[in-house]
Amino acid sequence: MLCEQPIDKGAFRIAVERELEVGSNVTRGAGYLHPRCAAANLENIGGTIDELIEALRANSKLDEAELDGVIADIEEAGDETGAARAN
Ligand SMILES: [Zn+2]
Repeated sequence: MLCEQPIDKGAFRIAVERELEVGSNVTRGAGYLHPRCAAANLENIGGTIDELIEALRANSKLDEAELDGVIADIEEAGDETGAARAN
């Protein structure tokens, strides 16, 4: 889960569930990524970019135009990183 830049207040962010190792315990917790970082970190998040986008469409509370913008960012970043596509 590599995201070195703080996410601006009010900027769009992707919430993901991730495993956290605390000592010898592994728990699950939420992490936050920039949309572009989510595409770049797919191998850590798990799944494909299409699954990520599908989950966003199902779960996001953004209005459609905002969500389309976020998804466009993710797709662009995914193309750059060669992230796995479901098809
Ligand atoms: Zn980031």
